[in-house]
Order: sequence, then structure tokens, then C-alpha cells
Amino acid sequence: MSGDRLPIETHRAVEYRLVDHGLQDGGFTVTRAADGARYDIIGVCPGCGARVVRQWTFGPPGAKSRRDERRMPKPGPRTLTCDCGSVHADRPPENYDKGCGAFWQVMLP
Ligand SMILES: [Zn+2]
Ligand SMILES: [Zn+2]
Repeated sequence: MSGDRLPIETHRAVEYRLVDHGLQDGGFTVTRAADGARYDIIGVCPGCGARVVRQWTFGPPGAKSRRDERRMPKPGPRTLTCDCGSVHADRPPENYDKGCGAFWQVMLP
């Protein structure tokens, strides 16, 4: 069975397809970074299984003198798109995204 290893973690070579996977309830962790100006969103693409790491930056600390008026993102769903970087079959060349075509929503706390 040598040479039969999975190329990248749990990534699946699915065909490119634009699919709205809807709100991902669980499966994604949203953590606020220590400096308070960023969310780290980590999870797995519901389309192809690629690991997704996204950073959501807002209001750099100290950019304004009134630090308590940092623009916090409102709680609620945010849409993410797969950009796993793999070449998925049947991806139209005019599509600018670099993933399997899956998109989904993640809830910000
Ligand atoms: Zn992929
Ligand atoms: Zn994907």
C-alpha cells in the first residue's frame, strides 16, 4: 500500500461546483485574537474538506485616540469562500476563486 497516502490532510478532489453550504453550526472555531482587533476563523471546507484558516481584522488598536470606539464587527453570519488553492476539475477559467466553489456562513460572536 506504499504510495497510497492522502496528498493533503482530508482534502477531497471533488469537482468544482458553486454550492451554498449555508450556516455552519459548529465545525468552525471563531477566536478573538489577543490584541482584540482580529478574529481567527478555523475550520474545514464543507465542499472539499480543505483546512480553512481565515483572519478577520478590524480596527487596528491605537488607530484612533478613543480606543473604546474601535469598530467591532457586528455579531452575525459572515460568508466565506473556499480558496484551498487546489485545482478542482471543471473550474471555469474565468472564476477568480481558487477553491472548489463552496461557500458558507460562519457566525461571529
Ligand atoms: Zn479544495
Ligand atoms: Zn473547498
